[in-house]
Amino acid sequence: MAAAEVGDDVFGEDPTVNRLQSVMAERLGKEAALFVSSGTQANLLALMSHCERGDEFIAGHNAHAYRFEGGGGAVLGSIQPQPVTMTREGLLPLEAIAAAIKVDDFHFAKTRLVCIENTYDGHPLPMDYLRSVGELCRARNLSLHKDGARLFNASVATGIDVAELVAHCDSTSVCLSKGLGAPVGSLLVGSKELIAKARRIRKMLGGGMRQAGILAAAGLHALEHHVTRLSEDHEHARIVAAALNRRFQGRIEQNTNMIFLLLPEEELRPFLQHLNKHGITIHRPRWVMHRDINDDDVDWLLGAIDKYPS
Ligand SMILES: *Cc1c(COP(=O)(O)O)cnc(C)c1O
Repeated sequence: MAAAEVGDDVFGEDPTVNRLQSVMAERLGKEAALFVSSGTQANLLALMSHCERGDEFIAGHNAHAYRFEGGGGAVLGSIQPQPVTMTREGLLPLEAIAAAIKVDDFHFAKTRLVCIENTYDGHPLPMDYLRSVGELCRARNLSLHKDGARLFNASVATGIDVAELVAHCDSTSVCLSKGLGAPVGSLLVGSKELIAKARRIRKMLGGGMRQAGILAAAGLHALEHHVTRLSEDHEHARIVAAALNRRFQGRIEQNTNMIFLLLPEEELRPFLQHLNKHGITIHRPRWVMHRDINDDDVDWLLGAIDKYPS
């Protein structure tokens, strides 16, 4: 990062940002990419680039882009969200999507975009599902955006190339700062036309950064060194979940790098307090493995789980 060659990215003149953008676009098999400050900003740019004021996007009722991003599409883009109930595995049933699409009638907002998320709560979406959603969107003349904050986890877990995972989407966001372990940043990836639009909106939102190459350098490092190692996080999650399952029979869910403890508050709280006494600070029933948790940390955690009186 300290040695990164930098320039003014607002004018597209930061060589390191440009390299990161072209590396990511190529890796995902799309025309262009845009480096942005966060996953939230990448998804917001996708909404605002695909949709006009008064348009509508369909998303899962628990999707990050619908539920956890401050309603940015509505607040800043005048884009109406249409949530549909998604499964625990992150699927928006095709019939539910089809039923939510508005007919062309001036009473209704214009349905323009469908958003899916991969991984969702650690679940990689199945390839045949991705194909079917893509076909549905094409048939109904809708764009398809994928929130791929954890896309590389999906790829490493399934062995399917990232480009294939996004082949059916018009755009995708990817976080460098989650499992990939870079300090800052996400990218929005899509067609040249879409990315040109997003670049304009990014500037409007105050997201045009100057010497951002120092951040992009970390992203390039992450792409080169931190992708295949995601399988270590998945393995750590699997081992920890197995230990938890011995304690809390069948009430532990684990997918890729995420673990969910499906325990009532009165059972969860004393357990977390116990871990706390062993020097492990966890506040929530959602645990996520990442590159700063190593084998020794996992052993420490397993030891503490083991010592929990049943
Ligand atoms: C983290 C995350 C985001 C948002 O990323 P930020 O960088 O925190 O804004 C979006 N979608 C998913 C699925 C995420 O996990």
